[in-house]
Amino acid sequence: MRPSGRACFSGNGYVYATRAEEIAKEQGIKRIARLASNENPFPPSPKALQCAEKALQEVNRYPPEVHRTLVKAFAERFGYPSVVLGNGMDGVIETVLRTLIDPGDRVVIAQPTFSFYGVAATAQSASVVSVPRRSDFSVDIPAFIRACQDAKLAFLCTPNNPTGTFTPLEEVREILDATDTLLFLDNAYIEFAAADYLGLMQENDHLIIGRTMSKAYSLAGLRLGYAFVPAWFETSYLRASTPFAVNRVTAAAAEGALSDQSHVTRIVTHVRHWRRRFLEECGNRAYPSEANFILIDVAPLKGDEVMERLAARGIMVRSCASFPGLGDHFIRVSVGEAWENELFLREIAVL
Ligand SMILES: *Cc1c(COP(=O)(O)O)cnc(C)c1O
Repeated sequence: MRPSGRACFSGNGYVYATRAEEIAKEQGIKRIARLASNENPFPPSPKALQCAEKALQEVNRYPPEVHRTLVKAFAERFGYPSVVLGNGMDGVIETVLRTLIDPGDRVVIAQPTFSFYGVAATAQSASVVSVPRRSDFSVDIPAFIRACQDAKLAFLCTPNNPTGTFTPLEEVREILDATDTLLFLDNAYIEFAAADYLGLMQENDHLIIGRTMSKAYSLAGLRLGYAFVPAWFETSYLRASTPFAVNRVTAAAAEGALSDQSHVTRIVTHVRHWRRRFLEECGNRAYPSEANFILIDVAPLKGDEVMERLAARGIMVRSCASFPGLGDHFIRVSVGEAWENELFLREIAVL
């Protein structure tokens, strides 16, 4: 019998921002505004590049299995000792699932949110339990807690992709106090927010905080994710992990990037400035955001339609139609360089 892919992958998987780029290229547009993937529009810190270049000299050797100096650098900067690494936070998410999930275990997800939790949990043969967010995209805390009762793991993204919603610290604490289920807080965009959740690590042994060097640190192409984990979780994670999941060029670049906080400060200032302008100019169609992107309601138009129209004018945004539980009339636009943002604001106003 001819082999075939598993049934759980027959539907839509992870959505990449390629369609908009194809359309822009068909129009012959050379200078495309890349506002579809929440990337950092600015190049990495020169320190990151220097460190990466140096590490390249040694790639005939396998990297260290545990990148101790990088782990130590994270631990010292953020003041919490147990840190694990992965091939992007996507890699961390996958390894966390591999560490914990037996077939049929329940995994709770507050939707609409980042789609990879569902894809990766399903791949692990988990049973995914969706908890719908409220109409303003805040988390329905009582419903989330109820869903956690017989679950192994729960994912909560804050600031949430694609809505930008920040879940207040007190609400996260309420969840942690009410349940023993391991909570994975996805903080991919935390550097752009007004507060973080690190203090909760000290008080809880069922909390994981996932972070990435892909957004604020401009290293999306090198794939480095990390997580603060309870001490008891560390050894199992390392055993479940793909051997040498993080290469030495990436680890070196991350260490260099981490040592240059002025780069992060610059991008955060830029993002906050433009986020305010996007919100002002898009009025009540835009949702408040603590991330480097904004969710915009484009009804009565459809997200796909707006994505295509903007693409034809050289602007890539993300249609949110593929996010389960969101509806088909939203787009997500990332804060880019000034010229990209200006172009977007001009075109969205006359759409
Ligand atoms: C971008 C993103 C990630 C993944 O980041 P990588 O480190 O690039 O894998 C994880 N979670 C959310 C919510 C994201 O938006």
